Amino acid sequence: MSAKPLIYDLEYDELSQRLTSWGEPAYRTRQIWEGLYHHFWQSPAEFTHLPLKLRQRLEDTLHFSHLKTGTVLHSQDGETTKTLFYLPDGQAVEAVLMRYQRRRTLCISTQAGCAMGCVFCATGQMGFRRHLTSGEIVEQVLYYARQLAHIGEKVTNVVVMGMGEPFHNYDNTMAAIDRLNDPRGYNFGQRRFTISTVGLVPMIRRFAAENRQVNLAVSLHAANDELRQSMLPVNRKYPLGELLDACKDYIRQTNRRITFEWALIHEVNDTPEHARQLARWLTGLLCHVNVIPLNPTQGYAGVATTRERAIAFRDTLIQAGVPCTIRIRRGIDIQAGCGQLAIHADSQQENSKIPSE
Ligand code: SAH
Ligand code: SF4
Repeated sequence: MSAKPLIYDLEYDELSQRLTSWGEPAYRTRQIWEGLYHHFWQSPAEFTHLPLKLRQRLEDTLHFSHLKTGTVLHSQDGETTKTLFYLPDGQAVEAVLMRYQRRRTLCISTQAGCAMGCVFCATGQMGFRRHLTSGEIVEQVLYYARQLAHIGEKVTNVVVMGMGEPFHNYDNTMAAIDRLNDPRGYNFGQRRFTISTVGLVPMIRRFAAENRQVNLAVSLHAANDELRQSMLPVNRKYPLGELLDACKDYIRQTNRRITFEWALIHEVNDTPEHARQLARWLTGLLCHVNVIPLNPTQGYAGVATTRERAIAFRDTLIQAGVPCTIRIRRGIDIQAGCGQLAIHADSQQENSKIPSE
């Protein structure tokens, strides 16, 4: 990491201290914060109301961007846009914008790669590269906020479901949410964030204790330990019993609903018996199940369920009193599944080292 910090990594008070130590008046912090988080300016040159000397000092001592835009893909229906970003150390991460009616939902990344190794996930197949800083998480949101502002639109929801396991990078993820939530700046409501976790039990407990307004989603994908640990290695450490206990405690403590996620994989986890197993864990819980047909990846042989099987799975759950919705695969034509672009960026980089045959 370079010695020059990213400006989005700074808390308001940290920026303020910096400016005070340069002899600047207190109102400068507010001016800069507004430039960053209201106007989405991305270089000191845009802060034309600041003295030239100060702009120069900002330029010399802080980075104003860590995200270099790589491939940008638009889905055929034009509703989904996926951007690949390169970080200063060459790592690649992705963020996706999904337009649906009045909603403008962003899906952002918290790590380059992921250590959890879920077998069907493109990011898991890459392995862990590094945590993103809070500023690098914030910058993904501002990138799209800036684009939307040009056409008079705003981000309405942020889902922390891109590359990486947010609860493995807990502090930076929460710091990013807090910074985006800051009423002096972007002022984005906590309720409009959803964090998805693979099920890191101690962090679910910590999250419950902090009693945030942020929504929680938990990736289940299987309702017996044998199957779940064959797909999600983390299940060995935190088996279903412990995970569901933590979820129950979360719901009791916060009175908030949990969304459970389930990628339907043909003949792996998509039978009515799997749905009944799941219902046995969830009946009576304040929750919702989102099922989504698997997005196929290169490193995993499984295929997506069929529409009929997805409907039967959903109906079995609903009959057992567990609310369930089938989600469509957004942007399947642009590989909008997390990690799918970055893995290509990787293989392109690797290929470029191999002499062509
Ligand atoms: N690490 C977190 C958040 C990122 S993954 C988590 O695992 O919850 C976001 C969601 O996409 C998770 O529910 C994950 O299981 C799911 N997912 C990953 N790869 C997928 C694929 N190939 N098809 C469908 N869903 C997938
Ligand atoms: Fe990591 Fe989530 Fe992918 Fe699992 S599904 S490897 S936890 S990003």
